[in-house]
Amino acid sequence: MKKQNKRMRVGEGRISGAISIFLGSLSLTSILCFKFPEQLTTPEFREVYTADMVENLMFGAIIATFLFALVSILLNKNKSNAVIGIILGVLAIAVGGLTVEGRAVEKVSWSIGLDWLILDLFIMALLFVPIELAFPKNKLQSKFHDEWRTDLIYFGISHLAIQLFGVLTKKPAVAFFGWMNLEQVHEWVSGLPFVIELFLALLVTDIFQYWTHRFFHSHHYLWRFHSIHHSTQNMDWLAGSRTHFIDIFFTRSMSYIPLYVLGFSTLTFNVYIVFIAIHAVLIHSNTSINFGILKYIITTPQYHHWHHCEEPEHYGNNFAVVFPFIDKIFGTYYLPGKEWPKGTGLIDASFPKGFVKQLAFPFTKSPFKNDLLPEEKSKR
Ligand SMILES: [Zn+2]
Ligand SMILES: [Zn+2]
Repeated sequence: MKKQNKRMRVGEGRISGAISIFLGSLSLTSILCFKFPEQLTTPEFREVYTADMVENLMFGAIIATFLFALVSILLNKNKSNAVIGIILGVLAIAVGGLTVEGRAVEKVSWSIGLDWLILDLFIMALLFVPIELAFPKNKLQSKFHDEWRTDLIYFGISHLAIQLFGVLTKKPAVAFFGWMNLEQVHEWVSGLPFVIELFLALLVTDIFQYWTHRFFHSHHYLWRFHSIHHSTQNMDWLAGSRTHFIDIFFTRSMSYIPLYVLGFSTLTFNVYIVFIAIHAVLIHSNTSINFGILKYIITTPQYHHWHHCEEPEHYGNNFAVVFPFIDKIFGTYYLPGKEWPKGTGLIDASFPKGFVKQLAFPFTKSPFKNDLLPEEKSKR
């Protein structure tokens, strides 16, 4: 077990084995999207897919599954991951992975966006796994630490539920502001240059997000839910996904208010979503990549790792997700030169392990021995 958790290095055949299993699993799950596109794919995405593009992607992924398995067999004495990769590749072919064809999709009232999960997982892994391998912050930390499965389940569930969350989190904004006549505001916003509109979207959502986040840190009952996000001791590209749905629901609902009230264009909204998705993964990732002076303009891994720090005296800083100056304005900014926190997590708390237990637990129990809020322990 210990050996399995050791950090992977280039040349051992373990990285290729993991890639083979990863691509094999994604190929196999993608085929489900072809079999049940009505229920499993995102309606907005369907319009973008072409049959050719999807067939080529499937073909490429299955071939790559076998190639990486082959590399792993050549380099690694332990052949088990390569064998699993090959089995997944063969299964993907057996259920029709190389003969998939696009077809007309009927309109249905719900879908769970499995395609979005597959694409996002693939793109994020492609972007961040190499960065974490090449420029790690914690050089001893393995991708396959004790709780990586839990974090992956969080990643999966929050993506699959995105359709549902999208509808639910919009409801409070519509309920509060739907009665106002906002057309003039919308007209003014749509007349702004794109870059200004995008900046405005990021700024106002970040201010709303800042106060919601701070509220979660300063109320005992809410802190139980948000503390799950802070429970991770292994910050990496999957760690940020560990967020309780009560936390996601309230924070997203609040962020939706300015988006709804100001009526941003679809382009701004889409660029905003993509930016936030990538940036949120970046600030949790295990990398000490140097951002130069950019780190004073936009939040970086160092900045957000300080928000997750395990040293109580620095609790309650860096609530902003995108702009550090928001913390500066409200007196919660902490970025000591090139220094990083010694560790992340909550030292005085014990959390149950696993997604299901963590889901139920905060409703009735507190993970903390004493009832002090993080800011009461802090020197801030
Ligand atoms: Zn927090
Ligand atoms: Zn975080």
